[in-house]
Amino acid sequence: MEDFPAWHFDPKGIFSVKSAYKLHVKISEREYMRDAESSYNSIGNLQNSGDRFWLNIWSLPCPSKIKMFIWRVTHNSLPVNMNLKRKRVNIEDTRCFLCHRLDEDGAHLFIKCKRVRQCWRLLNLETVRRDLEACSSASDVIHKIWCLPVKQYMLIVVMWWMWWENRNKIREGDPACSTENIVFRVQSYTKEYLNLFKPEKSVILKPVPKWKPPQQDQLKANVDGAYTVGNDFGGWGVIIREASGQIIAARAGKVQNVGDAFTAELHAVREAISLANQLGIGN
Ligand SMILES: [Zn+2]
Repeated sequence: MEDFPAWHFDPKGIFSVKSAYKLHVKISEREYMRDAESSYNSIGNLQNSGDRFWLNIWSLPCPSKIKMFIWRVTHNSLPVNMNLKRKRVNIEDTRCFLCHRLDEDGAHLFIKCKRVRQCWRLLNLETVRRDLEACSSASDVIHKIWCLPVKQYMLIVVMWWMWWENRNKIREGDPACSTENIVFRVQSYTKEYLNLFKPEKSVILKPVPKWKPPQQDQLKANVDGAYTVGNDFGGWGVIIREASGQIIAARAGKVQNVGDAFTAELHAVREAISLANQLGIGN
């Protein structure tokens, strides 16, 4: 057989405009994902934000891929048509793949589109949807969602996730799922996630306690342990400060074979005592 130039992105090696378009969309999506992940991993960014927004997302009782997706919804970084256009991706038609009437942005796709409104109605969330429709930004929407009961905001999170998958299928030329089918899956997945991941209600929107300084001649160690259901490891952090708030020492790490949050907290206390000993701090 003679050698011939092959298009690497097609199983048969044959070039087509369709496969080039798919490749282009995949590369754009990957770039968006990389941008999103790099900001997500930027601790400075999180600390500067001054709120516990990221922690609420991280505490969602669902798989990480859905948390990442919600983070992207919050930061308006999903490759919806209007975002691609904003990023100067050459896109001819910016209309919604589902209704073909209006431009596709996050608010349209997840809240306003006449097709997604059917989902909200079938999930008995139309009143919530109307409330969210009045919000002026994605972060406002998410802030309102955190105030709902856990079952309601999980239904919304899972519904958006499945709606996004459905939208991507349609974009690829596959047939759309029926709204009833999506709603059925949303309800059963939400139930499963709530059983499997056991949401820690106290984490969501827990007010941040204000740090109280120790007496003038004393030092204070604050500790924290972290554990996520489904992992066999946890994390711990220790910080020792003096009365002025000046940091004397800080340390953090990972600990294996942890089965619950309490054990992770205990590890944090042990590490604090060990750090204090190493620094020669007594009493
Ligand atoms: Zn639409």
